[in-house]
Amino acid sequence: MSSYTVGILGGGQLGRMTVEAAHRLNIKVAILDSESAPAKQINLVAADKHVTGSFAKSSDVKVLASRCDVLTYEIEHVDTKVLEELEEEQPFVDGTEWYRIQPSWKTVRTIQDKFVQKSHLAKFDISTAKSIAVGTSHPQGLKDIADQIGFPLMLKSRTEAYDGRGNYPVKSVSDIEPALKALADRPLYAEKWAHFKMELAVMVVKTAQEASIESWESSTLAYPTVETIHEDSICKLVYAPPRDVSKKVTEAAQQLARRAVSTFLGTGVFGVELFLLDDDSLVVNEIAPRPHNSGHYTIEACGMSQYEAHIKAILPDQASRIPEGATDLSVGAAIMLNILGGPQPDSHLLVEDAARDVPGAHVHMYGKGDGRPGRKMGHITVTGFSMSECENKIHPLIQMVDAVRA
Ligand code: ATP
Ligand code: MG
Ligand code: MG
Repeated sequence: MSSYTVGILGGGQLGRMTVEAAHRLNIKVAILDSESAPAKQINLVAADKHVTGSFAKSSDVKVLASRCDVLTYEIEHVDTKVLEELEEEQPFVDGTEWYRIQPSWKTVRTIQDKFVQKSHLAKFDISTAKSIAVGTSHPQGLKDIADQIGFPLMLKSRTEAYDGRGNYPVKSVSDIEPALKALADRPLYAEKWAHFKMELAVMVVKTAQEASIESWESSTLAYPTVETIHEDSICKLVYAPPRDVSKKVTEAAQQLARRAVSTFLGTGVFGVELFLLDDDSLVVNEIAPRPHNSGHYTIEACGMSQYEAHIKAILPDQASRIPEGATDLSVGAAIMLNILGGPQPDSHLLVEDAARDVPGAHVHMYGKGDGRPGRKMGHITVTGFSMSECENKIHPLIQMVDAVRA
């Protein structure tokens, strides 16, 4: 196996599951985050390499870089300036022409500003919801934009958005002022409302360093298309495969996702969120340059998990060794249910407890301590021969989640 050490900016649940995959492969992973971050709790192998600090602080990122061969992310809200400097100092992994920062900081810089991300995709004719930058916080600015794209529209923060924190649906003129108030002091853009019939997602593995849309077939692999259900802008459920969606659509989603990801520099897994419209056309909602919530199901339901694929894809001696077919479903169907925090600090434990009565339910708890409403505390994946078998298994747990939330 590889003898390289991987450094991850951020140590939440995505980092934690990446560490689990790396452990099996005997690959060392060093984490930059707070002392008891979820990814550090389970990673003693490289404990001497962990850095206590923040992925947003340049001096901390430099310390992590000095302890690792390859640097990657579990979150896109990182300081790309310091990564640019680090690349100037030492671009490649020792003895190779493989970039140390994977995927490229340039990719992260483009993606971390959602408006820039959308403009980038537009250059390659990848369809997205029409987006207009909000240049002023004056209500009139947004009114003019609404005249162009209509109501409802989604007012979004260009940066630092996650779990819908940064989104504000604007249904009519009277919502403009509260929307601007709620998102005050953030750089904003407005997005045309997508009247989707379903949200889909595809995890894509990019194994080639260069960006070239022409070579999307050789530079990327796709995981299956999945259906995602969001509640209050937070992912709640993932269905693999999507329910009642034709093969033509699931294949078109995979192809669109691969083409979109092929335009970015560097390697690793990318999460591509899509809207399926009434006429069966697809638009990209957003792309994450890292493992993604909609890919948790791959741990139990695919030949190779998104976390293992990410670790391999960023390493010089592993990326070209991910075989075609490794990303396919290895079960008939799977459903992933997020366990979110509820009104009490321990509300989410009720769901974890109920999952014990479901045969074959795979429970993942993230070690985050006290729950808060909407905080991702864990997830459960059930697999089966058919979707109806999975639905029957997960049904009582969904009811429990809804009860906790109420
Ligand atoms: P995350 O990164 O956690 O996925 P986020 O904060 O970046 O979330 P988005 O993915 O932009 O937010 O939006 C969250 C959800 O809000 C989407 O999955 C979708 O349900 C809804 N949404 C976003 N944009 C639009 C739109 N233009 N029209 C209709 N619904 C939208
Ligand atoms: Mg997002
Ligand atoms: Mg999203």
